[in-house]
Amino acid sequence: MLVLFDIDGTLLHGSPEGHTHAMADAMRTVWGVPVVPDDVWATQPAGRTDREIARLVLRGHSVADDAIDAGMREWIDLACRVHAQMANGHAPPVAAPDARAVLVSLEGDGVEMALVTGNLEGIGRAKVAAAGLGTWFAPGEGGFGSDAEVRADLVRLARERARGRYSDDQVVVIGDTPRDIAAARAAGVHVIAVTTGAHDAGALAGADAVVPDLTGALEILDR
Ligand SMILES: [Mg+2]
Repeated sequence: MLVLFDIDGTLLHGSPEGHTHAMADAMRTVWGVPVVPDDVWATQPAGRTDREIARLVLRGHSVADDAIDAGMREWIDLACRVHAQMANGHAPPVAAPDARAVLVSLEGDGVEMALVTGNLEGIGRAKVAAAGLGTWFAPGEGGFGSDAEVRADLVRLARERARGRYSDDQVVVIGDTPRDIAAARAAGVHVIAVTTGAHDAGALAGADAVVPDLTGALEILDR
């Protein structure tokens, strides 16, 4: 089995302030428009890829799509560097209280695990490492918001990058938003939703199961 974990609202709790500031800072530098962190929040970013968020913010500042495309690679690199520099100035990300125990349990069962997140890879990995969960997610695996703009593509990429080969039935996304659910559906795999993010059980009813936390997801996977 391959389990694909979302980061924000799933493995990590709390508001990603440093991440949001780094995205806005780097947009100001690369495209020369007065982006502020509130522009990022205004996109309702939960479940979106960072590249998608950047495009929505920049369109709001009247930047044309071809100019957005031209600056995207530079922005990805700069946002990750800015995030690394400013990480100490913001509250650190916090692991879900049961994250470590769930990862240990799945590892013990021989389950392969990877990240599928809208976060740019450098930022997402830094957040997960800062929360003490980095050892479970090897370099070169997973799907990130720096890889593609469409979240379902990240699920497909994580399957390609996995060490093992898994049928659709053996792949499970765990996430906290309707966008995680839609991405899993588009990629043809299972999805368990946790209500530890911005959405309640009603909003997540499209998942195969909705559970209160990662421990609840583990119980479903163990069946
Ligand atoms: Mg999330």
